[in-house]
Amino acid sequence: MSATAAASALTTEAETTRRSQPLAQMWNGGSDFELRTISRPALGLGESLIRLTAATVCGSDRHTVSGRRSGACPSVLGHEGVGIVEETRGVVPVGTRVAFSVTSVCGECRNCRRGLSAKCTSVRKVGHESAETDWPLSGTYASHIHLPAGVAIVPVSDSLPDGVAATAGCAVATVMAMLQAAGDLTGRRVFVNGIGMLGLTAVGVARSRGAAEVIAADPHPHRRRLAEQAGAAKTVEPGTAVDDVDVALELSGAEAGVRSCLGSLGIGGTVVLAGSVTPGPEVSIDPEQMVRGWRTVTGVHNFEPHHLAEAVDFLAGDGAQLPWEDILAGPIPLADLPTEFAEPSRGLRTVVTP
Ligand SMILES: [Zn+2]
Ligand SMILES: [Zn+2]
Repeated sequence: MSATAAASALTTEAETTRRSQPLAQMWNGGSDFELRTISRPALGLGESLIRLTAATVCGSDRHTVSGRRSGACPSVLGHEGVGIVEETRGVVPVGTRVAFSVTSVCGECRNCRRGLSAKCTSVRKVGHESAETDWPLSGTYASHIHLPAGVAIVPVSDSLPDGVAATAGCAVATVMAMLQAAGDLTGRRVFVNGIGMLGLTAVGVARSRGAAEVIAADPHPHRRRLAEQAGAAKTVEPGTAVDDVDVALELSGAEAGVRSCLGSLGIGGTVVLAGSVTPGPEVSIDPEQMVRGWRTVTGVHNFEPHHLAEAVDFLAGDGAQLPWEDILAGPIPLADLPTEFAEPSRGLRTVVTP
């Protein structure tokens, strides 16, 4: 074989490997997963195919698999991921390492036009769509993900480890949206209720943005220790009275947590609720206390593209100081995903590699 022929044979082989058939963990409901190949999508204008290098398991997927939250099936779950653009008809070039948003939005509806694209009237979501649609390769528990034109894509620096970068696309970007709703944190007293991945990130971002004092509440001593490592000045068990805070961030979703955040506010304080994503009991507020104290209660669900960019920047900067060795578990191979749902690893995020 001539040198040229040998080189071209190698190229063909490389091309075949590079263009391999996508492999995904198809979720059929309950604990039923099936490792399956899915055809490579023909890309439309603005679309990309990402070769995933890692996914992280968000708590909401655990709720979906356990049945606490409803989810389309069969489907490819997973909405936190990082990978390399392998093929594209969009603007981010092939070969770029990227993180991406959880929402695919139209950009034209009333909500998109007023900067609330997270609530696009025709939103579709990464890792939440039935595989029996025109978007079967929609989740990150796979070798590849197909990103429609409406999904925000942000380049990620090579210095950021895969497991860290993957958390940008749900947990960290949502915290950025919460903190925008909370306003300027410089010199503020901040209360974070619920130390999962989002709560721990919120402690780190609040410190990074100049909060004078961060107080964190969680029932688990291990998680309270993590919050201290992330920069919380004080940690308490749920139910402990915390008062006179400027900003309270609610991430537990528990009725008691919402009440304790409402009760913690000082004059001019703001509560941002983000944990309450499943139906729960109503919680009453005292309107006079709101009025006389100039207090605010607001809610945040998902995020805007600029929050994803802020998340990636935070992770590449002060976010490096979060206790990642305790946060991340794994990596586990994609084939072991069903076991991970049955017997969760210790840690706030399990890294899955295809
Ligand atoms: Zn999530
Ligand atoms: Zn829209």
